[in-house]
Amino acid sequence: MFPAFLTSSPCTSLYVHIPFCRKICPFCSFVVRRDRAGAHMEYLEALLDELEFSLGDSTHGRSSLDSVYFGGGTPSRLTVEELKLLLKGIHKRWPFDPEVEITMECNPEDVNQESIKGWLHSGINRFSLGGQSFQDLLLKKLGRVHNAEQLRSAISCFQKEKLENWNLDLMFGIPGQTLSEFNLDLDEALNSDPNHLSLYGLEVHPGTPYFHDSEVRKWKERASELEQQFYLKAVECTASKGLQQYEISNFARTGFQSRSNLRVWDGSPYLGLGCGAHSFDGVQRWGNLKSMRRYLEKIRQKEVPRDFTERPNLRQRAGETLMLALRRPEGLDFQAWQNRFGLTCNSVKKFQLETLAEKKLISWEPPNLRLTSKGMLLADAITSELMPEP
Ligand code: SF4
Repeated sequence: MFPAFLTSSPCTSLYVHIPFCRKICPFCSFVVRRDRAGAHMEYLEALLDELEFSLGDSTHGRSSLDSVYFGGGTPSRLTVEELKLLLKGIHKRWPFDPEVEITMECNPEDVNQESIKGWLHSGINRFSLGGQSFQDLLLKKLGRVHNAEQLRSAISCFQKEKLENWNLDLMFGIPGQTLSEFNLDLDEALNSDPNHLSLYGLEVHPGTPYFHDSEVRKWKERASELEQQFYLKAVECTASKGLQQYEISNFARTGFQSRSNLRVWDGSPYLGLGCGAHSFDGVQRWGNLKSMRRYLEKIRQKEVPRDFTERPNLRQRAGETLMLALRRPEGLDFQAWQNRFGLTCNSVKKFQLETLAEKKLISWEPPNLRLTSKGMLLADAITSELMPEP
């Protein structure tokens, strides 16, 4: 039995997970599977069934969609016909706002003039390009399928089509990467003039081949100071190109912030479809089964494909609110946050705030608290430090 997706405030945001990848990168901890011929259709039908079962007959709390995000995995592995079918199926079940933003993550090797035209025709109007680096050696270390030439070609296709609403993903902290190599990547990324840049430090997650690679782990242990230099350099250079930081890892020109990102960070409800996708109805959050086989089985049996459901308690909600606010450059009114969750600022907390300010990790002008650029890299640790004892 599928519980209807009822939200505490209007939901306008849909995430659709497409797990297929040509090859699995050794650092990747997302829910992915190697693409194989004939695997798409059954999955796409399951996505539409999941949407239909979730929405049920009720329209309570549902506005038209103003953000649809195809993430992965590699959504650009889908054919244009498959994408059209999926978007048509979604639209039939959940009407779109006339100004809906429909984003698709794509990898450089899938981008050419013809594919862009097809994607635009299917309704996609925002692209997120998984570039990561403009240097072949670094791309090889990351186990990427594409090379630097393919990335340049993808960007030039975007430019020929005069696309404005696209994001470039750039990675730093790649094993062996030097500051001058990072500067070259950053320069080329900014010179390609995207209106949105996502900048991620490489993370080494348990269960990935990188986690079991002693060279990679040794590099990561030694690299934190260098990574700080990469990041601070990027914050400085993006600002000089008019890309404003609006979250730890995201920079955009005015009007080009990702709507789906903003919804998540604002604490708005969103529905996620597909294996491993997460959803939030304003009160509880849940994640779908990560195994595609089990996900498909559950949908076939019209059963909820859930892996877990959480209903955060007051302390957890306070922590999430603090964490999400500190990831944004504007930070938060610390006093108002405490009042909202019934917390008090004792002498220990005051001392912690003053110490963090002395280390230049936070800007603390009571009641306003925000992270400095240096502090952004330590956002999780600072959030835990500022949380009240359980
Ligand atoms: S292409 Fe992206 S999603 Fe796919 S394995 Fe590599 S990092 Fe993961």
